[in-house]
Amino acid sequence: MRDFEPQEIVVETGSEQSPIFRNLKQAFPQVPFTFTDQRQTEASSLGVSNDPLGEGKLKLLLMRHRGEFLKKCPGSDGQVCCNYFVINFASNCPMECSYCYLQEYLAHNPALKVFSNVDDLLSEADHLLSRHRRFFFRIGTGEITDSLALDPYIGFCAEVVPFFAEQPNLLLELKTKSDCVDGLLRLDPKERVVVSWSMNPQKVIGIDEQGTASFEERLTAARRCQAAGYKLGFHFDPMIEYDGWEEGYRDMVERIFAQVDHRRIAWISMGVLRTTPGLKRIMRARFPATRLLTGEQVLCPDGKMRYFQPLRVSMYRKMLRWIRAASPTVFVYLCMESREVWQQVFGFIPACEKELGSRLANFGF
Ligand code: SF4
Repeated sequence: MRDFEPQEIVVETGSEQSPIFRNLKQAFPQVPFTFTDQRQTEASSLGVSNDPLGEGKLKLLLMRHRGEFLKKCPGSDGQVCCNYFVINFASNCPMECSYCYLQEYLAHNPALKVFSNVDDLLSEADHLLSRHRRFFFRIGTGEITDSLALDPYIGFCAEVVPFFAEQPNLLLELKTKSDCVDGLLRLDPKERVVVSWSMNPQKVIGIDEQGTASFEERLTAARRCQAAGYKLGFHFDPMIEYDGWEEGYRDMVERIFAQVDHRRIAWISMGVLRTTPGLKRIMRARFPATRLLTGEQVLCPDGKMRYFQPLRVSMYRKMLRWIRAASPTVFVYLCMESREVWQQVFGFIPACEKELGSRLANFGF
């Protein structure tokens, strides 16, 4: 995986008290730190080049998060939802996947931000979890950033995993395309933490997931986490249809199951490439070499473009067959897919999002 080396770190006054600041100072003794007030920090986040997103990844802003840290995952209109909560501890990501939806989602707010008030995050989570002890939460940190790519520099996991590991009604998911797990190996997850990898064949990673860990590096990191007591998750998402995709994905599935204990896999998700017309424009400009834009996609009711439904169903069914051959019992679900596709792939539709959420929670244990 490519090392992260920002050109500058901009710190909002007051954030110097945060453990994240201390960790950044240690990690980047050679990088200039600039201190500003809130307004100037916000102004620093506005890109001025032709590629504000790329530029945003070179400067790290450390600032307070204003508002709530914990949110219900927005899901996608009309698609089956898995009842998931997200914590936004950072925004944007140092890696460069050509299909990353953040390119459109954060187009007007492209700075790479890390939030310094971790104590507020923990007290908000404590309040929510202790008020609803009979509800089982699945919470992830990888919605608008990668959960682990910045961890060697900011030490976020060491600040929060000990708290979440003590909660009786929760699974915390750390989702990544990195291999930055050293900080996790020193902690005790107490069966409450799932470390999950988005996986693709190396052929896709090499072209469309720049700066991320290779397939082998991800798999090695997964094995190290499993040995340290973490549950694992795998997200085959976005699945890409290319010449020879069957061979690539089948080989990937077999190699994963040959190296990890499938009984310790909490869940596996599948989802195909999703774009929007706006995202396609950005991809064309930022990643002219990508071949992801050559295949046919159709507009779905939630405004996202996906492969034609029969192709999606056929891809999911094949993947499911390969997964089932390796592990008949591991829990597999679809991410952002319609009820019709669920029915055709699995032969059932979760009655409601609560049902899917509780199936996931049960399998996570
Ligand atoms: S790792 Fe995830 S968040 Fe980062 S660029 Fe790739 S898709 Fe986007």
